[in-house]
Amino acid sequence: MTSDEIAELIGDKPYRGKQIFRWIHGRQAESFDAMTDLPKTIREKLKLSHTIGSYALKLRSVQSADQTTKYLFQMDNNTIIESVYMSYRFGGSVCASTQAGCRLGCAFCASGKSGLERNLAPSEICGQVYAIQREKPRVGHVVLMGSGEPLDNYESTVRFIKLISDENGQRMSRRSITVSTCGLTPRIINLADEMLPVTLAVSLHAPDDAARERLMPVARVFPMRELLRACEYYADKTGRQVTYEYTMIKGVNDSLSQAKELAARLKGTLSHVNLIRLNELEDLDWNASSEETIRRFADTLNGCGVKTTVRRALGGGISAACGQLRNHHNNTYSR
Ligand code: SF4
Repeated sequence: MTSDEIAELIGDKPYRGKQIFRWIHGRQAESFDAMTDLPKTIREKLKLSHTIGSYALKLRSVQSADQTTKYLFQMDNNTIIESVYMSYRFGGSVCASTQAGCRLGCAFCASGKSGLERNLAPSEICGQVYAIQREKPRVGHVVLMGSGEPLDNYESTVRFIKLISDENGQRMSRRSITVSTCGLTPRIINLADEMLPVTLAVSLHAPDDAARERLMPVARVFPMRELLRACEYYADKTGRQVTYEYTMIKGVNDSLSQAKELAARLKGTLSHVNLIRLNELEDLDWNASSEETIRRFADTLNGCGVKTTVRRALGGGISAACGQLRNHHNNTYSR
């Protein structure tokens, strides 16, 4: 709830709503009794009708040599989700999930393998960040790139952004929040109209519709022309450059002619391309492109005036790619 909604709930002045909001999101109180500057009558009233506390019960965490830590959380109804903490020079970043599973079925993704279990509530998305913050204090960024498609759980995603950036809570800069999408075009337009200047990261993974459809079923519904037009609208409206994620798959999307085609589409737009080496899942027929191919692909894009970087792989050896740890957990416990 926002502070105004809390004030309305208890039938009190707006400052009371802010006070309670500060306890929940700023100080992360785990009980209403901890809110010691709140009249006892209000605390008792809240206790009767509402719950407070951690929405993310840590089941397990594993840490790799580069400090990347993968968490497995249990939410309500025994829903299992995962989140990742990554350590960078500028501070820590949490990669949070917005859904348990995903219904969009991208061919290279572990999260999409068993479909969508359910959407997460805003409190459950905040819960992941707060649970990790208790162990890793310097969290300054959040990327919604864990399991799930954030824009397929649009209301929760937008509410999460507003809650975590609220001046009475965590005050996280909206520019430090990244929303990743596989390309739900109408929702990109909706998000642009919200005027929340978050970073938009679009999973492109191919320079044309045919190759993209092979990798991502969603491309059959939202063709690339419309998608790129929506992204330009987002950049115009928010003034933020759009990040295009491009997973490099050997022999599928990594030729130099595909690099040139991609450059032709993106040239002159407010954009940035991130090349990512394919994470080779056990039951996947594809292989990752070689380092040399990735470097040449990046050079071609940069040479054509499209800003491109090769993303550093973090979390080696701990199944840090989206969906992997959760799938291991579910497979283990369903055997
Ligand atoms: S890549 Fe994202 S949108 Fe695609 S299946 Fe995985 S979680 Fe869903």
